[in-house]
Amino acid sequence: MLPAYITHSDCIKHDMGHQHPESPDRLGAINDMLLIKGLLDCMLSYEAPLATEAQLMQAHSALYIHTLAGMAPTEGHVQVDPDTSMNPGTWNAALRAAGAAVLATDLVIAGRASAAFCNVRPPGHHAEYAAAGGFCFFNNVAVGMRHALNAHCLQRVALIDFDVHHGNGSEDIFCEDERVLMCSIFEDKLYPFSGNAPRGPNMVNVPLPSRSGGEAFRAAVTNKWLPALEAFQPQLIFISAGFDGHREDDMGNLGLVEADYAWVTQRIVEVAQRHAGGRIVSCLEGGYVLSPLARSVAAHLKVLIDVD
Ligand SMILES: [Zn+2]
Repeated sequence: MLPAYITHSDCIKHDMGHQHPESPDRLGAINDMLLIKGLLDCMLSYEAPLATEAQLMQAHSALYIHTLAGMAPTEGHVQVDPDTSMNPGTWNAALRAAGAAVLATDLVIAGRASAAFCNVRPPGHHAEYAAAGGFCFFNNVAVGMRHALNAHCLQRVALIDFDVHHGNGSEDIFCEDERVLMCSIFEDKLYPFSGNAPRGPNMVNVPLPSRSGGEAFRAAVTNKWLPALEAFQPQLIFISAGFDGHREDDMGNLGLVEADYAWVTQRIVEVAQRHAGGRIVSCLEGGYVLSPLARSVAAHLKVLIDVD
């Protein structure tokens, strides 16, 4: 069985301006790299559907969804927070990004894909239950996870977040949900300046100092994440796959390289094989310098595809 690759051209139509790091070019850079490396031939491609309001409401308040819908412009830009704005393409892009996570969940649970990667934007892990922020509108992984828990009736779902920034939105949504274990590693004293004090016992938050490097990252995975994951025995693992901790990405300073992303993916695959029937749903989050982003996603997917 092959893994699924889910994307949509609508995700390129969300654009926050020429100078904005969360650029539409990110998706094409990833797609081109996967094509060149032959990795797209090893995956089943799907178009992301639009998430429904009922699916979004599993992770967001109705008031927030309606407020955001009402802000969507027909021309120009509307600022949502100092770093985040909507253009006429944003609303559908955000629905496709969340819908991708729902489709990915359906595919892996139905046994139609061994794992799934969602090459989508806008990203999601800074989107809270009732607030956008940090380039995010809907929390894509959270929508997928609640779909797994509520529509498919899974009892234990894990979220792994290795983006350089703390996933404050995911913590906000899941901090009181005992069906979820969230494991994150992020750079300390970086946006959104949260995560040092976990908001629930189901949060394994590991802040690492700037310039920690791959060795400290791997030690944190081994010593903090893996014991918690083994004890939790997740039935499905979601990944907030942010690659802005790469040493060539100026958004953060963790100093990771492709081999670190491949290594952590391999550890996640091993946990998934032991407890979750190998089921993994990975959604793109950060990663802003195109070349290291594309190379890191390729390294991540080579492991998910099990290609040497
Ligand atoms: Zn990030």
